[in-house]
Amino acid sequence: MSMVYDTEHPVPIPPIIWDNMGYWEGINRHELVFQRCKECGTWRHPPRPVCPKCRSFEKEWTPSTGKGAVYSWVTYQESPHPGFKAPYSVVLLEMEEGVRLVSNMVDIKPEEISIGMPVEVVFEDIAEGLTLPKFRKVG
Ligand SMILES: [Zn+2]
Repeated sequence: MSMVYDTEHPVPIPPIIWDNMGYWEGINRHELVFQRCKECGTWRHPPRPVCPKCRSFEKEWTPSTGKGAVYSWVTYQESPHPGFKAPYSVVLLEMEEGVRLVSNMVDIKPEEISIGMPVEVVFEDIAEGLTLPKFRKVG
């Protein structure tokens, strides 16, 4: 359980819809997967129905290496929701597959986060039926 969360004030859960169901099914089994176009091989995230490159509807949920780097980040000094305990950081990561993902870091202070920092995925079971992908510094 992360220090970020206040269990007395449940945080909003991500909406799971047809387009992102495969992503969340992967997360629930502790596997990071992204959509990959079956026609041209383009990776895409966030999930969407059509390939932005070739407009194919054919896709598969393909395992990520789980590795990437911090592209940017922001630290909240005041919480926007009573379920989140400030200060906490939201990171934008660029994964090895080239897609970008919004998440949080674990086991690090906000002031220790830097652009280009190599990271790898970990899975945090937040509540019954809700697991989130988080990231930790590599090395
Ligand atoms: Zn394509």
